[in-house]
Formats: sequence, structure tokens, C-alpha cells
Amino acid sequence: MKTDPGKLPEIIKTLEAKTTLLEPDLKERQELFEQVNIYTENFLESLDKRPVYHKDPQEGAGLLDDPISEEPEALEKILEIFDEHVITPGLNPASPGHLGYIPGSGLYVSALGDFLAAVTNRYSGIYAACPGAARMETMVIKWFAEKVGYPESAAGDLTSGGSIANLSAIVAARDARSLKARDFHRAVVYLCEHTHHCVEKAVRTAGLGEAKIRHVPVDDCFRMNPKALEQVVRQDIQNGLLPWLLVASAGTTDTGAVDPLETLASIARENNIWFHVDGAYGASFVLCESGKKMLKGIELSDSITMDPHKGLFVPFGTGIILVKNAADLHRPYQYQANYLQDEKTLARMEQVSSAEMSPELTRHFRGVRVWLALKLCGVSAFSAALEEKILLARYAYHRLNRIDGIETGPFPDLSIIIFRYVPENGDADQFNKMLIEQIMNDGAVYMSSTLIDGNFMLRMAVLSFRTHLEKIEQALIIIDKMIVQTLTKLRGDI
Ligand SMILES: *Cc1c(COP(=O)(O)O)cnc(C)c1O
Repeated sequence: MKTDPGKLPEIIKTLEAKTTLLEPDLKERQELFEQVNIYTENFLESLDKRPVYHKDPQEGAGLLDDPISEEPEALEKILEIFDEHVITPGLNPASPGHLGYIPGSGLYVSALGDFLAAVTNRYSGIYAACPGAARMETMVIKWFAEKVGYPESAAGDLTSGGSIANLSAIVAARDARSLKARDFHRAVVYLCEHTHHCVEKAVRTAGLGEAKIRHVPVDDCFRMNPKALEQVVRQDIQNGLLPWLLVASAGTTDTGAVDPLETLASIARENNIWFHVDGAYGASFVLCESGKKMLKGIELSDSITMDPHKGLFVPFGTGIILVKNAADLHRPYQYQANYLQDEKTLARMEQVSSAEMSPELTRHFRGVRVWLALKLCGVSAFSAALEEKILLARYAYHRLNRIDGIETGPFPDLSIIIFRYVPENGDADQFNKMLIEQIMNDGAVYMSSTLIDGNFMLRMAVLSFRTHLEKIEQALIIIDKMIVQTLTKLRGDI
């Protein structure tokens, strides 16, 4: 039976009364904010005392003992649950001792930017909805484009991360070369064994699962071998295939190797191959002198992936795709007026909406976290931090080489080194597996491992803005100590 319309206001008012918790008043907001502030302050002040990795037998399952309920709960209790089951178990990327994978660190000032973005909830996807937000993101993108040496014609998009940035590059490359379904099985992608796995995933996501993937051999420093690339490209052309996409790494995730970008760019140009540089780990190093030298030639690419949530230290959720020609990113994603297709009207780029440069429409206003951090800290702080990371890696490399029995990989191109301990007798892989476990159990630093030419290697990746010389000295002492412990343990086992 339909409700009597005359009764509706009363019913509506009853419902309204139940929604008050959705809009805390000034005093309540201050109390909530204060509690969260106390929590985050405790977190930050205890960072160096917390283990970088916490092995929790429950793996956070206790969270489920507190199901989402119809009734409100107190923030104090919620924060306790959050701390115990979410923040404590697993890896702590905010820690200065995080030297594994590619460390992300999370600038506090960017968190404040996120807060500003979320409270004001501006619509950053469409220029007309918030022109200032769109301009801010364009400004940030243009700033990065200039730093990598791209011309005025460049554009881009702030993505959620490097994987999506790589996907956008691949979609741009597909449409720029007008690849049709009938061409897909003939299209060839050139990359290396050490190329990030998300590239192949993105090729499939872009519909090109049938494309041929060539793993070009690398040199002794794990950089793509250009001669080998030329050879496969020539062969592929002879065989009637379509060399389409070359993905170079500006810092591989595994070893930090930077491919020879200048030489690769000219091979790509001669063969009309789209040249993409995956700089999710390393491209931010263009902001410092040593990095800039290593990344020479990056400006010769057609597109670049960057990851401010790695090399610009902002919290997770920010990547960048840059394209040299704005029209290439607009082509796959435009949904209305084609004003950008015609490069003559690129003047209107200033008013571009992220919604026409990306698959997303409504999304987090990511620009603030990058813009605020750059404004508040100034670029020089970032340049210094990045130069510091490179020098810390070089220093660690030098020191590791002086430990008896340690075998290192190549001199670091950027800020990652690989090494292992080769025991006088016994299985080296088994030893290094034990060694990393000991380091992990100690908890003060966290390192990860990888397989290089079938050998189990340890990795030290220096990228957190919080990692300074003392931490590296501590890591070296721990490595030394754990080698002795592992040797003793193995001896005990015999
Ligand atoms: C981290 C990384 C990616 C993936 O980026 P996400 O931000 O994790 O999606 C891609 N390529 C390289 C070289 C990386 O280091």
C-alpha cells in the first residue's frame, strides 16, 4: 500500500534524524581529527622502533572478528583494530629501513594534500567542473614533461600508478600506429627479461594478447643490448611481421639498470617503432644531477611512465603517463569534440580535462598531493634526496665489496644493488635464502631477493626519503652480523 503523501514529511524527518552522524559538527570534527592526529603522530614518532616487517601468524584475520555493524562504533576502538590488524602485520613501507622491492615512503605533506582534496571534494576529472583542479594537474604534468626534456607539445595524465601509466602508453601506441585486430598477431613488442611484468599484462589488457613478445638479450650490466635488438627487428621485418613497440626501462625493478636510451631511440626511429620508456622506478632521478646523466636520451622517447609514489615519495596511488605529442593520448580516450586531434589547436591543451586523457572519469584529485609537496618543500629538497639515494647506493656497493665472500652485481646505475654471499663450501642459493630470512627476522631493515641468471641474489633498493646514511650503515652491520650467524647455524646443522 502506498504511503499517504501527507505522512511523507514526518517519515522523511525521522530518516533525516538518523543521518546526523554523517555530518559531525565542529566540536565532533575537532575530536575526531585530534584522535586521528594522535594516532598518526604515534605512528610517525615510533617509525624507527617498529619492525620493517612484522610476521603475524594471524595475518590480520582478527579484523574479521569485528564485522561491519548497523550501529556506530567509537573511533578509539576502530583505531585500535586498524592498528593491530591492518597496520602492524606485514611490510611497513613508511619505515626508513625499507630497502626491498621499490620502496615507497609517503610524504606527510602529501597526506595533508589528500585531506584537502577529500574534504573539499573538487571534481578534478572535468575542466568545466573545477578549472583550477584541471589546471593544477596539467601544471604538474607539464612540469614533469619539462624535467624529462619533452617539448611544449607534450601532455599526460596522473594515473593511479605505473601499471596504469604503462597501459595508457600501450593504448596510445596501438592507436598511434592504427593497429587493427587483423594486425595484432603480426605486431611485435620488444622488451627484456627484466622488464616489469605489468608491461606484458598491459599488452594483453589492451587487447593485444596475440602480439609477439621478444625478450631482447641484455649485456653484463642487465641493460638491453642494442645490437641484439637491431638483429631481431631486422629478422621480424624479413618475416613479414610488424615491429610496433619498444619498451625500455629507465631503471629496472630488479637491478635498477637503465637501458641505453639514446641508441634504442634511434633504432626505434629508423624502424617506425613506438618508443616507450618505463621509468616507474627511475625516471624521477632526472631531478638530480647524477640521475640526469644516467637518463640521457629519455627525451627521445614517444612516451614515459613515471611513478611519483616511488621516486617523488608521495603516498601510494600516483603514477604519470607522459606522451611527447598530446594528440597521442587524446586519440584513444577522447569522447566528445575532437578539438585535440588537430595538433594546430593544441593551444587549448590548457583547458584539457583528465577525463579525455585517461580511461577514468570521476577519480581522486591526485594533483594536490604532488603539487602541495613540491610547493611546500621546494624542488631542491627532492633533487637533494634523489642525489642522496644514488650516493647511498654507491656507498653501500663500495662497502659490500669489502666484505669477504660478498659478490656484488654491476655498479648501480641508480639506487639498487644486488649481491650475495658465496660460502666457501655448500650451496650458495641455500645460504642466501637463509641469510635474507635472518635479516628479515631481525626487523630493522628489509631487503628482498631476486633470481639473476638462476642465482638467488639479495637486493638493496634505496628510495625512501627517510633512508639516510645511518640506516645504510646499520644495514651493512646487520648483513655482516647475519652472515656470521648463518655460517654458525649451518655449521651447527652439520
Ligand atoms: C613499480 C614498477 C611498475 C609498476 O608500477 P605500479 O605503480 O606498482 O603500478 C612498473 N614498472 C617499473 C619499472 C616499476 O618499478
